[in-house]
Amino acid sequence: MHGLMMDKQLSIASIAEFAELQFPDTEIVSVTADNPLHRYTYRDCFRRSRQLADVLTKRGYEPATRIATLAWNDYRHMECYYGISGAGFVCHTVNPRLFPEQLTYIINHADDKLMFVDPMFMPLLEKLKPAITKVETFVVFTDEQSMPASDLPGAISYEAFIADGDPSFVWPEFDEHRASALCYTSGTTGNPKGVLYSHRSTLLHALVGNTGAVLALSPRDVVLPVVPMFHVNAWGMPYAAPMVGTKIVYPGPKMGDGEALYNLMESEGVTMSAGVPTVWLALLAYARGADKTFSTLKRTLVGGAAVPAAVIAEFRDRHGIDVQQGWGMTETSPIGSVNKVLPKFDNLTPDEWLELRTKAGRAVFGVEMKIVNDAGETLPWDGESAGALKVRGPWICSDYFGLAGDSEAHAEPGWFDTGDVATIDPDGYMAITDRTKDVIKSGGEWISSIDLENAAVGHPQVAEAAVIGVAHPKWTERPLLIVVAEGDRPSKDELIEFLSDKVAKWWLPDDVVYIEEIPHTATGKILKTALRKQFADYQLPTV
Ligand code: AMP
Repeated sequence: MHGLMMDKQLSIASIAEFAELQFPDTEIVSVTADNPLHRYTYRDCFRRSRQLADVLTKRGYEPATRIATLAWNDYRHMECYYGISGAGFVCHTVNPRLFPEQLTYIINHADDKLMFVDPMFMPLLEKLKPAITKVETFVVFTDEQSMPASDLPGAISYEAFIADGDPSFVWPEFDEHRASALCYTSGTTGNPKGVLYSHRSTLLHALVGNTGAVLALSPRDVVLPVVPMFHVNAWGMPYAAPMVGTKIVYPGPKMGDGEALYNLMESEGVTMSAGVPTVWLALLAYARGADKTFSTLKRTLVGGAAVPAAVIAEFRDRHGIDVQQGWGMTETSPIGSVNKVLPKFDNLTPDEWLELRTKAGRAVFGVEMKIVNDAGETLPWDGESAGALKVRGPWICSDYFGLAGDSEAHAEPGWFDTGDVATIDPDGYMAITDRTKDVIKSGGEWISSIDLENAAVGHPQVAEAAVIGVAHPKWTERPLLIVVAEGDRPSKDELIEFLSDKVAKWWLPDDVVYIEEIPHTATGKILKTALRKQFADYQLPTV
C-alpha cells in the first residue's frame, strides 16, 4: 500500500517560487565586472530568472539541452542557475581556470549550445572559437553600454538578451530526476569527467545543507560563498540560501583578494562563509597584517582540501570564529561530511579539540560511508584502519555523463569509490590520510601528475619521471618533479622551460629532484606511496 501523499516533483524552480513569495526583500549583493557593488533582492533575481527562462524556452531547445556558463560568482550567474535549470535545461558551469585543451574538450563533450560568459573571459573564448563551433550564441554578462566588441558568434549582452523575456513566465513541471546541472571534474586521470546533477539530488542536498548539521543558515545570516559557482555549484549555497531567506554576498572576481573579501564581509555583515583553505589563508594574512578582526563573521565551512590546524587555531584564537571542516567532491554534490563537535567532546583540552577539528568530519544524513581494504573487505571504524573511502546516497553520482558503465569509480555496484584513503574513528569522525587517484590539489584546483609525467619524459634526457604533491603553506600542495636522468642531467630551469609550453603555467613543478631509481609496484606502476613517504618532509624552494 502506498502512502496517500501528493506526488509533487522536486524542482529547482520551486526554490525560486518560494523565495519570491516568502523572502522578496532579502538582498543579493554582488561585485561584477561592470559594477563594483550591485545590490538587488530575491524578488528582482527571480523575476529576471523567469525572463531568462522565457527567452531560452522560446529558442526551442530540446529538454535537457546543455547551456554553459563561464563566470565568477555574481547575481547574473545565479539567475542562470535558476533560469536555465528551471526551464528544463542543463546549466553547465565551466571552470575558467582550466587550460584551453581541457576547456575545448569539456565544451564539445557537453555539446553546449549557448554560453553565458563574463567579459573578462572573452579573449579566452576568442582563442577557443575555432575549436568550439557547436556553441551558437555567446551572451556576455554586461549591459549594452559596456558590451565589448566581439566577433564571437551571436555575441550579445545579457541585458539585451533577457530584455524581452516575459517576467510572468510559468515554471514548467517535469520529472524530478531530470538533469539540472553539469560540472566537469579533472579530479581523476584522463579527460575531465562530467557530473550530472538532477533536480531531485539538488533539492535533497540543499535541504540537508540547511540543517544544523551543515550550513545552519537562517534569515538572520548573511552568507558569502567564496567557493566558485563553477566548482560544484558553490557547494549548493545558491540553492540553500533562498530556501531559508539568507542574504547572499557574491564576491565576483575578488575571490582571491584577502583585503577585498575582508571589506565585503565587514560592510555587508557577513556571518557565514565557505571556501577552500587557500582562500582563508589569504584572508587571515590580510587581517593579521592590517591588525584587524572580524566583527560579524561567526563561522566558516572550509573544505575541498585538508584544512591546516594552524588555520583552525588562528580563526579560533585571534578572531573567535569556528572553522568547520567539510569533505566532499564534485561527484558528491559536494557535501559528504562536516566536522561538528559532539556534546561529549565539550570538555576537551584546546590541543585535543584542535586534533578533533582537523578531521574531515562525520557523514551527514543521506551519505553512507565505508572504508575497504584491497580485497574489498569493510574495515572497522577504529580510527586506525585506513582504507579506500566509498560512499553512496541520493546526491552521489551513479555514472559520469556520456561514460555510462565506463569508470573504475563505480566498479562496485551501488558504491562510489572516492579515490581518497581514510580512517573513521568510533565516533564516526572520518579523516583523509592519502589518495589513490594520481592528482595534486593546488589552491583548490587539480593538477594531473600523469600529464606532467608524460610531458617530462618527452625530454630526451629524462628516462623516467614521477610527480607528487608536496605540502605548501599557501596552496596546500604543489608539484615536485622526480626524475631519473638518461645521460647528462638537464638543469631544473631547462626542464621547467621544456614543460612551459606543454602545460598550464600554474601546473609547472615548484622543484625538480634527481634520484637513481623510481620505485615500482608489482605491476610496474610508479609506487607513489613510497615516493610520498620519501619526500614527506621535502622543503620546496617556493615556501
Ligand atoms: P573536487 O571534486 O575538486 O571538489 O575534489 C574532491 C577531492 O578533494 C576529494 O576527493 C579529496 O581528495 C579532496 N578533499 C575535499 N575535502 C577534503 C578535506 N576536508 N580533506 C582532505 N581532502 C579533501
